[in-house]
Amino acid sequence: MEKKIVGFHVDDLGDWVADLECGHRQHVRHNPPWINRPWVLDDAGRESMLGQVLNCKKCNMPAIPGNAKRVTCSPLFDQQMLQQQCSGPQENASDCWIELVVSQGELVYQRHTDHVEGYVIDPEFSAVIPPGTGYTLIPKGDVQMCFHYYEEQ
Ligand SMILES: [Zn+2]
Repeated sequence: MEKKIVGFHVDDLGDWVADLECGHRQHVRHNPPWINRPWVLDDAGRESMLGQVLNCKKCNMPAIPGNAKRVTCSPLFDQQMLQQQCSGPQENASDCWIELVVSQGELVYQRHTDHVEGYVIDPEFSAVIPPGTGYTLIPKGDVQMCFHYYEEQ
């Protein structure tokens, strides 16, 4: 979804992050020769990008229905448990909506629809897995996460 840039800030690692009108954030790194955004390094360059749009993938994440109540949580998974119990394609075969909450580190959540959409999930951004959704989880290093289950009332 195309969202306007409303501001910029620097993250803990010194990388530039764009603040989007939807409230989400997106890295706008300058990391040549792979990613070239020399404009992000100076005030005038950043100012010239205000009001421009970026594709906000986070806006494509489904939302848990308003009438759904949290019924239970999984134990905490670490990277090793994920690789043992959740490697390869998974499916939410329950009637519940599942919120995947990362408390430490990050992982890639791939949602399988007619194509595959990948999202980086971290402590600031959870995945929502509707009933019947196929997905794959790819831990990136040390990660801790759990599943919260929501039932529509
Ligand atoms: Zn957004």
